[in-house]
Amino acid sequence: MKCNLHASAWLALLLAAALLFTACAEKGPADPVGSGESDSEITDVGQTADPAQGSSDEPGTTADPQPGGDVDPQPGVVTDPQPGGQTEITEPDPGPGTEPVTDPPTEPADEPAEEPVTEPVDFGDGTRVVQVTLDKYTVTVAVGESDMPWVTMLPTTAPEKGEIWTSDNTEIATVNSWGKITGVTEGKCKVTVRSKDNPDAKAVVDVEVVPKELIHVTGLTLDKYEVTVQVGLSDMPWVTMTPANADDKSEIWESSNPSIASVDKYGRIKGLNVGVCTVTVQSHDNPLLTATVNVKVVEKPRVMEPTYIEGILVVNKTYALPSTYNPGVDPTAQAALDAMTAAAAEDGIELIVKSGFRSYDLQTTLYNNYVGRDGQTEADRYSARPGHSEHQAGLAFDLNSFEQTFGSTPEGKWIAEHCWEFGFILRYPADKEEITGFMYEPWHVRFIGKTISQKMKESGQCLEEYLGITSAYAQ
Ligand SMILES: [Zn+2]
Repeated sequence: MKCNLHASAWLALLLAAALLFTACAEKGPADPVGSGESDSEITDVGQTADPAQGSSDEPGTTADPQPGGDVDPQPGVVTDPQPGGQTEITEPDPGPGTEPVTDPPTEPADEPAEEPVTEPVDFGDGTRVVQVTLDKYTVTVAVGESDMPWVTMLPTTAPEKGEIWTSDNTEIATVNSWGKITGVTEGKCKVTVRSKDNPDAKAVVDVEVVPKELIHVTGLTLDKYEVTVQVGLSDMPWVTMTPANADDKSEIWESSNPSIASVDKYGRIKGLNVGVCTVTVQSHDNPLLTATVNVKVVEKPRVMEPTYIEGILVVNKTYALPSTYNPGVDPTAQAALDAMTAAAAEDGIELIVKSGFRSYDLQTTLYNNYVGRDGQTEADRYSARPGHSEHQAGLAFDLNSFEQTFGSTPEGKWIAEHCWEFGFILRYPADKEEITGFMYEPWHVRFIGKTISQKMKESGQCLEEYLGITSAYAQ
């Protein structure tokens, strides 16, 4: 609500004031003096002013805002909406002690005023802002943060209460047209607000911009403090820094002996030579926080011969192939795959080979990449260490998709149902991870020959169960 008085003529103004007074008093959102008057009461304007009960956010109300006016005709007036959409109920200011009151109050404030303003009032100066006050004259903000003092332009009757805000140093703090002060860099400056109506009426805010308060790292832990890696392989402990919303969670990694194990900036520890060393991680933000990993680098297992059990070439976590074992795709397995692919096509199923033979060196690269991405524990669930992949045997194929949901697709279902007819087994069935050592892979088939594939289909066993063997890395 906004009540403006436009006084071009004395009588017109008086009339307008009377009308507005009535309107505002009826609609006034609050009792301006807190004296228990009802909203409809119209009090003697000379008695409504009580600075002690005035708005607490008007520090400047002790000064007289209305040098020319002896009374305030609008005790309940609501001034211009403040920035931010709030409205402020202003307190008529009597300017105690500084203002001659020509018409001393004669009636108690809690008595209904039977008559509106009866005296001619000189609003000549009441139409112009003569004083600008703030709820605060010092503001401290952090870089990037904001604060906004509340402005009161007096007298409240002045119709034009536009504000002009300026900062004397916008490199330190800026201010927008609503008076929102935002810290830019550390320092001090002054922000001034002037009345648009009367640029001589102004108030100054002392602004101090302080550094943004950073959230510091207070804790650092690892998921493991002991790491054993083979020469050529890697492992990566996970770091947790707390609190999670700390501003700088960067890590500084260092190896005590880079000729035994190197460590990169992500904490990937790679075994280079047999021996022991330590790898340390430090919080960049809080260098007092460190954690140490004991690293043991062991020799690659020296496997001289592939392992056959009951005539089956076994490759799993227990049984490795020599690094020199490099046969390429097994021709019998390839022929079986071709037959299976053709049969699938007749059923409207397209089988696509995503991965067949993989050399020891290729597997080394793949495995180390997975460890770098997911950590060794997770990588060991789905990627074989070098020497431990069936793909190196030339007997395994990955078909169509590497998503576990592939098992529910027509292609995945077809493979599970029919692959045994061509001498293949689904090597890593669902719910057998504890036995095979690898998670469910509906895409990975291994050629084993029709006799055994049929037996295994009938028994529902995986290869480890069928042969009564384990699948676990020695370390
Ligand atoms: Zn595979």
